[in-house]
Amino acid sequence: MADHYLHLTSTAPGRFLTRRLGLPQPRPLRRWTLENPTLDGPLLHLTAGESAISDKLRATLAKIGPEATEQTGHPAGIVLDATGITTAGGLGKVHAALHPVVRSLAAGGRVVVIGTPPSPDDHHQAAAQQALEGFVRSLGKEIGKGATAQLLRIPPGAAASAESTLRFLLSPRSAYISGQVIELTDAAPDPVADWAAPLSGRTALVTGAARGIGASVASVLARDGATVICLDIPQAEEELSRTAARLGATALPLDITAPDAADLIAAAAPEGLDVLVHNAGITRDRRLANMPAERWASVIEVNLDSVLRTTDALLEAGAVNRGGRIVATASIAGIAGNNGQTNYAASKAGIIGLVRSLAPHAAADHGVTVNAVAPGFIETKMTAAVPLFIREAGRRMNSLSQGGLPVDVAETTAWFAQPASSAVNGQIVRVCGQSLLGA
Ligand code: NAD
Repeated sequence: MADHYLHLTSTAPGRFLTRRLGLPQPRPLRRWTLENPTLDGPLLHLTAGESAISDKLRATLAKIGPEATEQTGHPAGIVLDATGITTAGGLGKVHAALHPVVRSLAAGGRVVVIGTPPSPDDHHQAAAQQALEGFVRSLGKEIGKGATAQLLRIPPGAAASAESTLRFLLSPRSAYISGQVIELTDAAPDPVADWAAPLSGRTALVTGAARGIGASVASVLARDGATVICLDIPQAEEELSRTAARLGATALPLDITAPDAADLIAAAAPEGLDVLVHNAGITRDRRLANMPAERWASVIEVNLDSVLRTTDALLEAGAVNRGGRIVATASIAGIAGNNGQTNYAASKAGIIGLVRSLAPHAAADHGVTVNAVAPGFIETKMTAAVPLFIREAGRRMNSLSQGGLPVDVAETTAWFAQPASSAVNGQIVRVCGQSLLGA
């Protein structure tokens, strides 16, 4: 379903009219294309206070894009190293660094503030570093022009682990992500031979891949070089085969709730899986008072229980290779809750619990990371069926004033899936344009 309002505000008369009426001003977002894979300008490097990682960070940033100079007009990205801020008084340096330059950021630009994990033992450091979260979330809301702002926490001495994440955040691939806090571990990245095909030689399986977000995830993983297996229910076999054929992928018609699903998945990937994407999901909406037990049970079964069951079985069987990546699908409904979705929101909140709890154990015992995407309003068949006014509200109630596209979720999944993303573990990253819901 086309977003006519976004189209209207991209024209001069439309912009004039909607501005006069005080209506939202979405900017068409520039996403990744083969011809145009990077941001359209240099990166401004800034430091606030004493920095522990600035040299290493500078070396990593130099690989991502040219550095802006005083002569550069509009930087496409601003990276502020705020790891040295350890007191409330030090926060003034964040203001001093960004206040003079924030207006010069190009349309569709990126602000990435680099922090460090808040200390459990030093409450002054913890206050100062946590303050950066409120700062970035507010900046994301006010920055406008399709620009985004994130906080990336890097443990001391682990700047080299941040390359895949900085490449993602400072690129068009993260166009619909804003106001997020991502905390890295100090795990060393697995080597990447070719950043243009980081998944080459890897095998990925995507559930619910016949259409919608899952088909887009499969497509982006294939673009990044993976051998892809697309799984969907047998009733969707025709669509599944078409999607798989288009991507040069294998189709695996299988209901993920089947008792032998994990065995059949393992059999489909005899060399083991490197990437496992739990994307299949259903909704069976009703208010709790009107919800029969079957509607409750089917949503929990598909969205949560089958994810727990297959993940456990595949990990225990050693069917996920070392260096493997598991990506699950939550939702902002699992964070904010939603009218008529007690079952769905419970299942998606359950995914968040699963990811946070399993991630450190999966890394320690199997060398596998576990993360989740939490999509907001994404333009799919599912959201096209939402009544007009609720759909319009869903599209506009975020900092970018528009819905996301399946590819936005897919790009996030592909970043989690990268060999170099070993330090990204236990993260729930919202792909929601910084939705006002559940912030
Ligand atoms: P969709 O309905 O278009 O696609 C879901 C796919 O999963 C379908 O192809 C379906 O056949 C498959 N599937 C369902 N049950 C299955 C089962 N038991 N076994 C195997 N496959 C099964 O949905 P979508 O919008 O592409 O959503 C994909 C995921 O993203 C879901 O987990 C959904 O909850 C989540 N999500 C979507 C949005 C959004 O705005 N579209 C927002 C938040 C979260």
